[in-house]
Amino acid sequence: MPVEYSENSLDTYDPKGSLYVVSTPIGNLGDITFRAVEILKSVDQIACEDTRKASILAKRFDIDTPRTSYHEHNARKRCPGLIKDLNNGKNIALISDAGTPGISDPGFLIIRECINCGIPVIQIPGATAFLTALAVSGLPTDRFIFEGFLPPKKGRKKRLEAISDISCTIIFYESPHRIKKTVNELYEHFGDRRIVIARELTKKFEDITRTTLSEAVRVLEKTTPKGEFVLILEGYK
Ligand code: SAM
Repeated sequence: MPVEYSENSLDTYDPKGSLYVVSTPIGNLGDITFRAVEILKSVDQIACEDTRKASILAKRFDIDTPRTSYHEHNARKRCPGLIKDLNNGKNIALISDAGTPGISDPGFLIIRECINCGIPVIQIPGATAFLTALAVSGLPTDRFIFEGFLPPKKGRKKRLEAISDISCTIIFYESPHRIKKTVNELYEHFGDRRIVIARELTKKFEDITRTTLSEAVRVLEKTTPKGEFVLILEGYK
């Protein structure tokens, strides 16, 4: 059946490109989706948080799309240029160093800007570290709160106080440099709750430790933590 166009269709024709928010693996490259590879190959440009990790991905999946850097330290400066390209009809894919762009990374800024400018934002779903950890934590998954990273210095106590009596599962991201400090503070603040420490998910040295805060403090005391961590804390009972 022929498609009928209204007279208005030319007036409303909008040459804007789209921002594709493409999830990439959090470790194991086999976790990329077919659709992610297709999109990364077909867009005009890839804005990537970590150019080194992006080139590993590009090499593995034969992606020769031009890449540009977009990270924490240049996001504000890079945004107007990317918006201009999108307004001129270019399709751009956004990828973070791992997982889903916009989750605890600078992706938020360009995504919000596109929404404000009426530029289509299309999500290509895939891995996210906190959901991967939560799913196998064994702690309740029916209600949870994602806290992301605690502030590195000021404001940590205030954030913990705000969630003291929340009864659902609480999720944090943490780096190897701060994990000891954070777990110690969680113990001081919340007492001996259950905690799941998910390290290096989907990677060679993946480790998921289901324990209590007092035991986690004791074990971490004797180790030099390495890798990336998700902490899943039991809610208030
Ligand atoms: N956008 C990412 C996502 O979708 O999960 C998160 C980016 S955030 C800058 C990086 C943090 O995610 C790490 O410090 C760690 O807390 C967590 N993370 C990322 N990959 C991980 C992995 N393979 N195992 C455990 N935690 C991971």
